[in-house]
Amino acid sequence: MFGKILIANRGEIALRIQRACREMGIRTVVVHSEADREAKYVKLADESVCIGPAPSALSYLNMPAIISAAEVTDAEAIHPGYGFLAENADFAERVEQSGFTFIGPTPETIRTMGDKVNAKRTMIAAGVPCVPGSEGALPDDAKEIVRIGRQVGYPVIIKAAGGGGGRGMRVVHTEAALVNAVIMTRTEAGAAFGNPEVYMEKFLENPRHIEIQILADSHKNAIWLGERDCSMQRRHQKVIEEAPAPGIPRRLIERIGDRCAEACRKMGYRGAGTFEFLYENNEFYFIEMNTRIQVEHPVSEAITGIDLVQEQIRVAAGERLRYRQKDIVLRGHAIECRINAEDPFLFTPSPGRITAWHPPGGPGVRVDSHAYSGYFVPPHYDSMVGKVITYGTDRAQALARMRVALSEMVVEGILTNIPLHRELLTDARFIEGGTSIHYLENRLAETKKA
Ligand code: ADP
Repeated sequence: MFGKILIANRGEIALRIQRACREMGIRTVVVHSEADREAKYVKLADESVCIGPAPSALSYLNMPAIISAAEVTDAEAIHPGYGFLAENADFAERVEQSGFTFIGPTPETIRTMGDKVNAKRTMIAAGVPCVPGSEGALPDDAKEIVRIGRQVGYPVIIKAAGGGGGRGMRVVHTEAALVNAVIMTRTEAGAAFGNPEVYMEKFLENPRHIEIQILADSHKNAIWLGERDCSMQRRHQKVIEEAPAPGIPRRLIERIGDRCAEACRKMGYRGAGTFEFLYENNEFYFIEMNTRIQVEHPVSEAITGIDLVQEQIRVAAGERLRYRQKDIVLRGHAIECRINAEDPFLFTPSPGRITAWHPPGGPGVRVDSHAYSGYFVPPHYDSMVGKVITYGTDRAQALARMRVALSEMVVEGILTNIPLHRELLTDARFIEGGTSIHYLENRLAETKKA
């Protein structure tokens, strides 16, 4: 096992990884920007290294600075968390070339899966069902684009091959708007992701977002650890996640989970990962794979009893998976609410000093957050300041515990989306379960009108 790990991230996930390491007796190095110097989790680390000024381009995305921090502190491995460099194949490559272990899959796997056109091709080859659409990237020829559009059938969605974080997508309802939309998405994708390639998919009108968590070692063993329902989204960004997904027949999920594990064995996948699907009319359609730990991993930890970050570290160190598929037993239900520093209804960011922070507690309540009373939420990064996860023997209990938890929680000095969560937790359709990915946006649009 590693003696020392460098954590190349910030905020709640940096703290989460640090806790996993400390429990395992691994020393930690936390890198941080000037804006995060005073954060408590930085002080909790065995060592910390300032890697640059506040803007992430100069710090959390600064590969040479992170690698030199690993060199000067004698770290053996680098955990990238999520976001920033977590799915950057060049970074993974540079980490390994510098003699460190990258806690994640190989650079080749990251590269293949990071290009959504390649990822879909790989999944089709592995027998995983995908959203119907163009075969590969769209050509330049306008006539050909129109022909593909007719074949796929409207509405369609144009997506950037290199896209991520809910960006680089455009829905098209009519043929007249198609070519222009392709050109616009291409231009944006080139500027935002350095790759102008786009592809076309059928736009599913009422799907749910269901994803499968997997774990694989470097000895061709792979298992899946249940599914998560992340349909409660705004602007393609997840707001509430839960596990298991309410109302989906187990045999359908088992079939898709087994396919995902098999795909991992086929491609020699290593580490934790997630296969994302849209689910509509009892069918699963693969949309993308995330080759890293995800924000919503705690709901899977709650229902499987497995610490995903620790397992990720173990397989990165070359250990064999400690579990077989038959050892994975799902118990109870878990829900996660992402707590963002933002206006709960206008969604404008609300950075600043937290003057009072009172997190909830009690049975089945987990809070993953780096925040505290007196903590300053810097304006430079993602607005998420923490996650509240509740667990119950069934969904009703997990929901009830979340309602109580968020009624206790006090955050002052900044605005948060807790009031929105409180509303959603009493929403009749959400309580029923199984709402689509458009539910939250439609609901927000209606409340605005009213
Ligand atoms: P990203 O990498 O940016 O997260 P994804 O491909 O995972 O992009 O898609 C993000 C979200 O966009 C999905 O959860 C879903 O809400 C929506 N979406 C993507 N593809 C489609 C599609 N074919 N039909 C309907 N919605 C889609």
